[in-house]
Order: sequence, then C-alpha cells, then structure tokens
Amino acid sequence: MLHFEQLSFWEHQQYLAHNTFVIVGAGLVGMSTALSLRERFPSEKICIIERGYLPTGASTKNAGFTCFGSPTELLDDLAHIPEQTIWDTIALRLEGLRLLKERVGEKGMNYQNCGSWDLISATELPIDNAAIGYLNLEFEKRFGLQEVYRQDDQSICKFGFKGFRSAYFNPYEGSIDTGLLIHTLYQKCIAADIRFLFATEVLSFENDHNQVHIHTNRGDLSCAELFLCTNGFAQPYFQNEMKPARAQVVVTKPLAHQLRGTFHSERGYYYFRDIGDRILLGGGRHLDFEGETTTKFESNALIHEALLKKLSTEILPGVPFEIERAWSGIMCVGNEKKPIIKSLNKNVHAGVRMGGMGVAIGSAVGKALSKLV
Ligand SMILES: Cc1cc2nc3c(=O)[nH]c(=O)nc-3n(C[C@H](O)[C@H](O)[C@H](O)COP(=O)(O)OP(=O)(O)OC[C@H]3O[C@@H](n4cnc5c(N)ncnc54)[C@H](O)[C@@H]3O)c2cc1C
Repeated sequence: MLHFEQLSFWEHQQYLAHNTFVIVGAGLVGMSTALSLRERFPSEKICIIERGYLPTGASTKNAGFTCFGSPTELLDDLAHIPEQTIWDTIALRLEGLRLLKERVGEKGMNYQNCGSWDLISATELPIDNAAIGYLNLEFEKRFGLQEVYRQDDQSICKFGFKGFRSAYFNPYEGSIDTGLLIHTLYQKCIAADIRFLFATEVLSFENDHNQVHIHTNRGDLSCAELFLCTNGFAQPYFQNEMKPARAQVVVTKPLAHQLRGTFHSERGYYYFRDIGDRILLGGGRHLDFEGETTTKFESNALIHEALLKKLSTEILPGVPFEIERAWSGIMCVGNEKKPIIKSLNKNVHAGVRMGGMGVAIGSAVGKALSKLV
C-alpha cells in the first residue's frame, strides 16, 4: 500500500496540502455536504476521503425510492414518537427531495414519477379511514400536498399480487437509478473542484488550535474543518445514539411482469419496485434485528429465503423467476427517527443516522452541515 510519505511533490500539493474542508465518506451525504460547502465557499480547498474504491455503505446499494413515508409507517411512528418530531422529519425529507431534484435534475438520476403503493397484507389489521383522513389533512395543512394517500385496492389485482387486503397509492413518491445518482453527484463534485482520496480509511483525528489532524491508514493530513459523513460506521462517535442496520436486497433476472412503480409493505420493512424488466425486492430486517445490527456486508440466509418466498407467493405468484444479484448495504438507525446534525467540537461536525430515507434527506442534511461553519 502506497503511504502518503511516498507521494510526489505534485500529488502532495494537489490532495494533501492546504485543505480547508475534509469530508469523511463519499456517500450521498458526504458529496452533498461538499457541494453545499462549495456553494458557500467558492475558493476553499475541499477533499473527500473515502475508504472504499467505491462509496461503500448505503448510497450505491439502496432501492432508489424517493419516499417520504408510507401510511402504515407513519401511523406506527405516531403511536410511539412525538407528533412534531414526525412532521419535522417529513419536512426534512420533502425539502431534501426538492434540493436533490434541483441539484441533479430528473435526468441526472433517471427520476420516474411513478408513485408508490403501501400494501396491507391479509394478516394485518385494516387501516382506519379516519387515520388516512387525518394524514391527508396534515399533509395539506403543513405542506400543501393534496390527497397524499388514496385507497386503491384495484392495483392488487392489476399487478397480479396475492396475499394483500388493500393498497394505498401516493402520487408524490417515485423511483430513481441509484447508481446514476451517485455518478452524477460525483461528476458535479469534480466540476466543482472537489478532490477525492479513495481507498483511504480515516482511523482517528484530533484538534490542535484551529487545525484538525487526521490519521489515516496511509498517513496523516490536516484541515481546518472536518465533516464526518460515515452514517452506519459512525458508532465510535455516537455510542448510544445510533447503531448500524444492515439491509438485504435481491434483483431478478429479466422476466415478463406487469409491475410498474414502487411498493412498500409491513410498515416499510419490505420494499419492491421494477427496474425495467427486472424486479428489486429488499427488506426483512425485522425478521432478525440482532443479526442485522452489523457493519459486515454479508448475506443473511433467513432473510434471503424470506425475500424469495415473498417474491414467489405475493409479488410474482405463478411467475417463474431467477435471482440475478443479491447484496447487502449498511444503514444507520437510532433511538430517534431523525438525523444527527451537529458539531462535536469547534472544528469537527457530523451528519449521520439517515435511517431508511437518505435519498430523501441526504441533500438537506448536507446543506445543514455546510451551515455549521
Ligand atoms: C438496501 C438499502 C435500501 C435503501 N433504500 C432506500 C430508499 O429506497 N430510499 C431512501 O431514501 N433511502 C434508502 N436507503 C437508505 C439510504 O441509502 C441511506 O440513508 C443513505 O445512502 C445514507 O447516505 P450516507 O452518505 O449518509 O451514508 P453511506 O452511503 O453509507 O456513506 C458513508 C460512507 O462513509 C465511508 N466511510 C465509513 N467509514 C469511513 C472511514 N473511517 N474512512 C473513510 N470512509 C469511511 C463508507 O465507505 C461510505 O461510503 C436504503 C439503504 C439500504 C442499505
């Protein structure tokens, strides 16, 4: 492994010397933070340090839903989270989605305005109409969005699903191409004169007057302000406030299906969508919370089997399919369902705990972080 001390004068000048802002993590939040810092500070030197040869957390591995909350998830949240916290988080999700669209454009992430369906399984209790009425009223009152959730049981038959009793359609959610979004953000960073050090892991850091000294597996560098955007890997700094949450995903080989759109079920614990002629299905973390509280990118046999069963019995009943690819990603959850955006000290700041909605909130978190300096 090439150490920083072995770098040329030119390499040292370009990447290591005189960095004003260093960001740890090249996921959605890290790159959004860098771009928001660039908007505020046109000529400061900004460098993102990423330990993977690609971003290696959740941002290149997610399902690509531009979601802000399904009715079953929100009603479940309302039962045990203060109401204002829930609506504040939704406000952040909606603002984040607006910022994301503004920054990368619909083309830059292949945004599809396909809507989403929350599917209520036959074993779940039906949703009370009054509860849907309440959610719709609040969305209209607070955000000016009309009829966010509309009962649409016909879709169950239309898409050929089995085992669901009802469905609620949300016209304001959609899907994106996750890989394209990250690539577009990377291109925007390069165009904004933001540097990257890939395959470099930050091990520790300490403050000294107005400098932060950063120790990596390749050597040391320093900066004026450090931003931790390491989400599920930030536990050393937030012992009691967050924990990693792994999520499993499968994608089928191309097949003939009628599914168009994004779908959630069981309070968001399962999610599936079309990717053209393929189907992506993820989730099932609630089947093994303990096993999935990890930062290891591994498969979970129990959950993998449950995903296959769900595909064959509920989503694609009677349709033969093969799995093309299966993977896991690492999210970050915690005792509160809202991101941590705060300064650890005068020169070190963190934006972590994105939950399952980083696509929605990532840009807003980046903007808020950039305002801490
Ligand atoms: C399977 C799955 C499906 C999801 N589906 C959706 C969805 O449909 N919609 C949605 O809104 N959200 C979804 N999410 C959540 C969303 O992807 C995340 O909230 C979001 O990507 C978090 O972005 P981030 O930049 O904070 O973290 P990450 O993308 O995890 O980025 C953190 C980066 O920090 C790097 N890093 C960590 N430690 C170090 C270190 N010491 N030194 C250097 N680099 C380091 C990591 O390698 C990583 O690249 C999903 C997540 C998963 C896993």
